[in-house]
Amino acid sequence: MRKLADRVENLEESQTIAMARISRELQEQGHNVISLSLGEPDFNTPEYIGNAAKQAIDDGFTKYPPISGYGDVREAIAQKFKKDNNLDFKPSQIVVSTGAKQCIANAVLCCVNPGEEVLLPAPYWVSYSQIIELAGGIPVCLDTTIESDFKVTPQQVEQAITAKTRMFIFSSPCNPTGTVYGRDELKELAAVFAKHQQIIVLSDEIYEHINFVGKHESIAQFEEIKNNVIVVNGVSKGYAMTGWRIGYMAAPQDIATACDKMQGQFTSAACSIAQKAAKTAISVTTDDRKKMVDTFHKRRDMVLDLMKDIPGWKTNKPEGAFYVFPDISYYFGKTDGQKIIKTPSDLCMYLLQDAKVALVTGEAFGDNRCIRFSYATSDDLLREAIRRIKESLAKLK
Ligand code: PMP
Ligand code: GLU
Repeated sequence: MRKLADRVENLEESQTIAMARISRELQEQGHNVISLSLGEPDFNTPEYIGNAAKQAIDDGFTKYPPISGYGDVREAIAQKFKKDNNLDFKPSQIVVSTGAKQCIANAVLCCVNPGEEVLLPAPYWVSYSQIIELAGGIPVCLDTTIESDFKVTPQQVEQAITAKTRMFIFSSPCNPTGTVYGRDELKELAAVFAKHQQIIVLSDEIYEHINFVGKHESIAQFEEIKNNVIVVNGVSKGYAMTGWRIGYMAAPQDIATACDKMQGQFTSAACSIAQKAAKTAISVTTDDRKKMVDTFHKRRDMVLDLMKDIPGWKTNKPEGAFYVFPDISYYFGKTDGQKIIKTPSDLCMYLLQDAKVALVTGEAFGDNRCIRFSYATSDDLLREAIRRIKESLAKLK
């Protein structure tokens, strides 16, 4: 077989996307698979946003846009930061990209040199570690536990910092744990970074709006680290726009300028039509988002309630996003008579084959005790999925 470049040979396939692909293939073969693997809202993009895209075509927005995004779109994003987060950014500090994923890739490629370390509270979102490795950086995991709601402590961060530490990446609300950091917790973390001004903090706030505890808090609010924080956000989750591929970052000017240069060589600007639709999404207030978030909140409660009846299935109380990340290590050492379950991946595969429910192994997120369950699907499917999981787990001895 042809040998390709080391960077891709060493790259792992995104496990969230891989599980979604496997379940689609099984569905095509006629299996009744319930896919709870891919994290995306099961809602359609609201109509007013679609109409804005149609209008953009009619208005002729079909040519290459400026690399970092149209001026009016960046202005609208700057206003969003002021209105929702009380953060001051100039439009020149905003870079619009093809999804929040590209924002993260731009930021890491622009800030991390080969051999430099990036601190990742684990569990972390799948793509962080692979993007860091693509840049030649070294992911340094800070393990957290379910007992502390998967939160990293300032002491842990302090102890992990070396002369080579260049970046800290985290998400709040968190994918995969649903953990939400409060203002005081962020302030304590900021105090650590304030002592180490060489560290850039990448705050992934893509689940900002899917938060069940109230006001979203951003680590960018603390003046002492303001010049070192990159905020990544986007419209994929909060506005059910995963397919439109629009994310954005707000960054210190030198980093935003660097990301503009990087993006100019990789993908050019994000889709012109989708940019205009995203501008409408963030500028116009309707109750679509609230309805969606209320639905996720109710489902979170329902799912946690049903999970109480699954023996050995230990969960935290996720306060945002749309995932539950149960610790399933109780099943390690048990068997279906053919294979012994030793890892979360083993249990995931067993549940896919036996229960026909697709989840994602915690190992994809840097965790070796948990699995991720996305509840971004209908109540009926969630009830049926949990019923099947319970039935299959009961067969393990
Ligand atoms: N960050 C996190 C934590 C995510 O869950 C996702 C989901 N895809 C992304 C970034 C990327 O979002 P996008 O679809 O806008 O690329
Ligand atoms: N962020 C989603 C997830 O975690 C989508 C998949 C992906 O972009 O990797 O499932």
